[in-house]
Amino acid sequence: MTNNTRISFEFFPPKTPEGREKLYKTRETLQEFQPAFFSVTYGAGGTTRETTADIVTNLRRDGISIAPHLSFGGDDEETVLALLDRYQEAGVDRIVALRGDMPSGMGAVAQLVYANELVAFIRRHTGDQFHLEVAAYPEIHPEAEHYDADIGYLKGKFDAGANSALTQYFYNPDAYFYFLDQCEKAGIDAPIYPGIMPITNFTNLARFSKNCGAEIPRWLRRRMESFSNPEDTRKLGLEVVTDLCETLLEGGAPGLHFYTMNQVDPTAEILRSLSLD
Ligand code: FAD
Repeated sequence: MTNNTRISFEFFPPKTPEGREKLYKTRETLQEFQPAFFSVTYGAGGTTRETTADIVTNLRRDGISIAPHLSFGGDDEETVLALLDRYQEAGVDRIVALRGDMPSGMGAVAQLVYANELVAFIRRHTGDQFHLEVAAYPEIHPEAEHYDADIGYLKGKFDAGANSALTQYFYNPDAYFYFLDQCEKAGIDAPIYPGIMPITNFTNLARFSKNCGAEIPRWLRRRMESFSNPEDTRKLGLEVVTDLCETLLEGGAPGLHFYTMNQVDPTAEILRSLSLD
């Protein structure tokens, strides 16, 4: 583990001015870990179009390296181009390009545009202006036809011009290492950064994991379900996720991308336990 380890932090756009203030403070504290970039999620369907862009441009004014997530959702090309223009003007140099998921209730509004098409669109209109990150799924995307098909579509995103990938979170390092091997066999040689989800509120995590196809190992689930004191959850969560990060880095992962949930402590505690030089 060296300072060559690329660290990045993901935020979601808060709905209230108080949430935004808290986010800016979180960002300042996490700066201690010298992240390569922060990223801000985007509600496909345009639900956070303004807030995501606002937070991104505000942080850019402070000179922060920041990557907006972007997807077509139900938007037309002009709307996406206008956002790209705005990001270019703000000096943004990295985008996380996604298909996204429609917020519930908006499912029938539009056909989602696959991420490889968005990557090709961004390259067509902005050349090499942006470093493009895409999503990868070591435990395979829940809608994928089958394992190899999902890897084939990931390859399609790189062929369209993506530079690197950030993974969905997982708690089984073997899933990641096996996935890397399969990606290599499929001709993918770009870096694939594991996504790390600290464990805080286990009930919420279990619900969310079910929807996004991330598996929580049975022993961990059963142990977490047996706790009534949140402090026990926090302690075991810290231990398990720190071990996971160590295993990933020792096994050659090029860095770590943290799903911070806009909180400092769960992520900072893991990083301090890892003591990256
Ligand atoms: P794609 O790569 O387009 O894949 C979607 C599905 O379609 C997969 O099952 C794939 O196998 C299949 N597929 C891919 N390409 C094709 C093709 N050309 N033809 C046929 N099938 C294809 N969601 C949000 O709404 N906002 C966010 O900000 C956000 N940030 C995320 C960040 C990360 C790091 C990750 C891992 C996920 C994030 N998500 C976000 C969730 C993501 O949008 C969902 O998982 C979504 O369902 C898939 O997006 P994708 O870009 O991976 O899609």
